[in-house]
Amino acid sequence: MLLAANWKMYGSPSQLAAYCEELLPQLEGCAHQVVLCPPFPLLPQAVMLCAGSELAVGAQNCHWAREGAFTGEVSPNLLAEMGVSWVIIAHSERRKLFGETDDTALARAKAAQEAGLSVIFCVGETLAEREGGETLSVLQRQTAVLAGLDPQKLVIAYEPVWAIGTGHNATPAQVAEAHAFIHERLQELTGQAVPVLYGGSVKPQNAGELLATPGVAGALVGGASLDAGSFFAIIQAA
Ligand code: 13P
Repeated sequence: MLLAANWKMYGSPSQLAAYCEELLPQLEGCAHQVVLCPPFPLLPQAVMLCAGSELAVGAQNCHWAREGAFTGEVSPNLLAEMGVSWVIIAHSERRKLFGETDDTALARAKAAQEAGLSVIFCVGETLAEREGGETLSVLQRQTAVLAGLDPQKLVIAYEPVWAIGTGHNATPAQVAEAHAFIHERLQELTGQAVPVLYGGSVKPQNAGELLATPGVAGALVGGASLDAGSFFAIIQAA
């Protein structure tokens, strides 16, 4: 299983230090892959603290160019050289608030893989799309661009937008349906099985049930990943 912590725009150097001090000893001998994705400025500290541990470090986004006149953007090659090994691409907050499209997301994911990073590529429908019966057609569109990616360095995160930060996680039946569809699509597009994570209000209380749902290869955790104890409880439920 892969358990990834998406800190979003939360955290500070002192919080990161305390978090690692608590979490890293607990992760010794952990059978799962665990990734911490803090904001960009905390990455060097995270790489340093996590060196030689079971906790890998990921970024929350990256640009599609190796370098250039792109003020405010971050190069995937820079991330790789710094010791970052994962990157989240196409999170729904990037899509909704920062104009990410299927095409720009693909460009970022491709560049990230070329730089040697593994990609957690996010997909998921809004509430209006689910209520309009469009969930599978949205997933079909969002995954259509993935054919050009290296399936060995790719993980999909199914994050229904209505379940993110709301406390209303998708039901195991909804998760199973979406994951089965995504699995089939990725097999078709890349010729290989690609792991699919679930994200959206994953908490210690619901993690066991969600992670035991057929087709779920792990979780992308937002709010509950900010507390080392809660995140570790989710890892233990896997
Ligand atoms: P929450 O776990 O806070 O719902 O966030 C999920 C998410 O967006 C992870 O990327």
